[in-house]
Amino acid sequence: MEPIVIIGTGQAGYTLAREFRKLDSERPLTLITEDNGANYYKPNLSKAFAAGKTPPELVMNPREAMEEQLAATILANTRVNALDAGSRRLQLEDRELSYHRLVLAVGADALLLPVSGGEKIPTVNSLDDYERFRAGLVSGCEVVVIGAGLIGCEFANDLAAAGYQVTVVDQESWPLARLAPREVGEAIKAGLSGLSVRWHFDARIESVDADGKQVRLADGTELRADAVLCAIGQRPRARLAEEAGLEVGIGIRVDEHLRTSDPNIFALGDCAEIDGRVRPFVLPITHSARALAKTLAGTDTAVSFPPMPIVVKTPACPTVVLPAEVPHSEGWWRVTGEGTDLEALYRDAEGRLHGFALTGAATAKRMELAKAIGSILDAAGA
Ligand SMILES: Cc1cc2nc3c(=O)[nH]c(=O)nc-3n(C[C@H](O)[C@H](O)[C@H](O)COP(=O)(O)OP(=O)(O)OC[C@H]3O[C@@H](n4cnc5c(N)ncnc54)[C@H](O)[C@@H]3O)c2cc1C
Repeated sequence: MEPIVIIGTGQAGYTLAREFRKLDSERPLTLITEDNGANYYKPNLSKAFAAGKTPPELVMNPREAMEEQLAATILANTRVNALDAGSRRLQLEDRELSYHRLVLAVGADALLLPVSGGEKIPTVNSLDDYERFRAGLVSGCEVVVIGAGLIGCEFANDLAAAGYQVTVVDQESWPLARLAPREVGEAIKAGLSGLSVRWHFDARIESVDADGKQVRLADGTELRADAVLCAIGQRPRARLAEEAGLEVGIGIRVDEHLRTSDPNIFALGDCAEIDGRVRPFVLPITHSARALAKTLAGTDTAVSFPPMPIVVKTPACPTVVLPAEVPHSEGWWRVTGEGTDLEALYRDAEGRLHGFALTGAATAKRMELAKAIGSILDAAGA
């Protein structure tokens, strides 16, 4: 029997393998990863300092334990260079491998700063990245974080809470500018400023010096640090799919069954685009993995996503967001609350709720509001 092959052992690959094994213990399963195959929970990377965890302590199971748990073959430190959809074969570094069904769970690449020297600034999108970044830090040193989005704010909070001197730079005007209105951003800024985080907003970075530790802003400001971290977003890894002739948009395009334009190839996780959107978070992966496991086990199952609030790991200002799935031009924010306890609701022209951003005590309302959005979507037949 030819195996189901999953490329990737991140949240998407391992969750799918687990869900599949609950339904089918017979079909051979092979997972391939270019890293060492250790199972870790990526969201822990941006709270490991405060949790007092070193990189090795973040590993939940080494590859060998995962092989046993999943009754699978895991090819670690192995890169898939190409795939031939017609003959259902993968090109590895030293051999070829045939598959019955193939799943692309290849994740995303962190974006590098698009300025001269930008490639020298580290990003953190894996345990290996994190280990390298952390190894370069000396206790209490100065760290510049580029990007005040979700990941940038989480690292800023975690580093500052652990005693590092943190400065955050962003071209936008407030933290989480793509997910929340200014008032919410200001609350997050106030919370993190309480940990002595400093900020440069509306700041365009012009260049990075040779050692990647000095950043020059367009207004002439020079920021010199012991370490710089770039957290400006990510791009789905779609090269393998694109070169194989699969349909690719912002990510690897899949239908509601997570099937690509080739009927034997599927995709999920940070690399996949469904309905024109990439959902690079854990909850969508869980829903996708459950549906795809059923499809792979023989019962075609469509994925559906309920409203999925995202907890931003900034304990200095507890925050939960649920990004609206409608274009920004079609609605507006209304913010109520006091101080750092804010409720921002995103409604359309008819007053229907589509998204929210909550801080402080208002975060307690996240499930109630998510439910309300779910009912609106159900009523609209979405
Ligand atoms: C710092 C940080 C904090 C986060 N916090 C949260 C949070 O609080 N809540 C939340 O919901 N989400 C969070 N996220 C997002 C979440 O972690 C991701 O959505 C999720 O981990 C993505 O999993 P994935 O399996 O799709 O991709 P990845 O984890 O990137 O896995 C990709 C896999 O593909 C393999 N691979 C890629 N190309 C090849 C190839 N050619 N050959 C062989 N192997 C290949 C890689 O080796 C890897 O095993 C966070 C992300 C980061 C970076």
